[in-house]
Amino acid sequence: MTCAFDLAHYRELLGAAREGGYRWASFDAEPQPGDLLLRHDVDLSLEAALELARLERDEEARATYFLMRESVFYNLDSSHGRSAVRELRSLGHAVGLHAVYPRASRDDRFDAVVAWHNPDPQYVHEPVSGFVNVMQAPWFTKGRYRSDSNQHWREGCPHEELRDGAFEWLQLLTHPEIWVYDGETMRETMESMLDTLRGEWLEHLAGDRIDLS
Ligand SMILES: [Zn+2]
Ligand SMILES: [Zn+2]
Repeated sequence: MTCAFDLAHYRELLGAAREGGYRWASFDAEPQPGDLLLRHDVDLSLEAALELARLERDEEARATYFLMRESVFYNLDSSHGRSAVRELRSLGHAVGLHAVYPRASRDDRFDAVVAWHNPDPQYVHEPVSGFVNVMQAPWFTKGRYRSDSNQHWREGCPHEELRDGAFEWLQLLTHPEIWVYDGETMRETMESMLDTLRGEWLEHLAGDRIDLS
């Protein structure tokens, strides 16, 4: 098995978790032995989030998608953004808030769970009023957390340990864009995302009655 950041290996990761006997859990209760808290921070692309969400549905996996209210890359208030939230819910996933510190305010689109975007060490693990902060104890516990940040597993791809049931429980953070778009480095992956976005934006322009003839 090669640990590529692509959808084939993502499927293998989910399969490994199933083989290891883990159950899909969310952040509404404290983690229990055997839980896999599958977390996705959606920094850049709702399309990538939906693609991963549909794959997870195929695999009967359940995740929590953390969406931003103040992203420069997507707009949850657009028709497109509203339908993305509806689809994530209808696929059986939870939706939390991916907030920019210190602004964490909730509305009915989000469950009472927050993940800070690019947090600083001073507040990353601090409780947040009205929310579970995914990085506060016990949801964040050293040795029970893995992240694919910038297309790099700091502590290695967890597929083997998942398959072997080596974690008592695990919070697994992945960023959909990294898995959905091709590229062996973050730079290459971002370039292929931008290539795809050009087509999507042309459609948005046509939908906005822009004459492209
Ligand atoms: Zn792997
Ligand atoms: Zn983020």
